Amino acid sequence: MKVLLDGDTIQARISELANEIEADYPPGEEIHMVCVLKGGFVFMSDLVRSMSVRVTMDFIAVSSYGSGTKSSGEVRFQKDLDSSLENRHVIIVEDIVDTGLTLKYLREILRSRAPKSLRSACLLSKRSRRKVDVPVEYIGFTIEDEFVVGYGLDYAEKYRNLPHISVLQG
Ligand code: 5GP
Repeated sequence: MKVLLDGDTIQARISELANEIEADYPPGEEIHMVCVLKGGFVFMSDLVRSMSVRVTMDFIAVSSYGSGTKSSGEVRFQKDLDSSLENRHVIIVEDIVDTGLTLKYLREILRSRAPKSLRSACLLSKRSRRKVDVPVEYIGFTIEDEFVVGYGLDYAEKYRNLPHISVLQG
């Protein structure tokens, strides 16, 4: 495995993202962070600990509908949120945006729950793979079209605990 982003590089970028986020919201406003499990859990954990504004958290677990490699973008909720989004500033926290289908679908569902605002933060983005135009307000790193693991991202449930992001070579 080749290390693409080491732990220090990731931490430095997350501090910048936390500052960007904090600067974008009116002072005193609470931000509700919605982590997309499982891949988003490490990013979420470091991001919220870099933020000093008032933050609340919730977790959602989704799996792609349909079979094989063909993603319809429709997702099934394996775990829904515990609390309402109504009138809250919501940020969806994801590990990676690839085709964008999952995030687009998620945004539509969460938007229908009447948040005060809705934004997305993704640690990684594979820009060249995008099939749908979906806004991602906060992106950690834009990467090439390679399969990556570590820092929450898995291959067959392995490697999520790596402190860095590596390219899995066949
Ligand atoms: P999208 O709907 O944007 O195509 O899919 C995003 C999801 O695909 C991510 O949440 C992640 O679960 C998975 N994914 C996409 N690219 C990678 C990758 O390089 N490595 C891993 N581990 N998962 C990926």
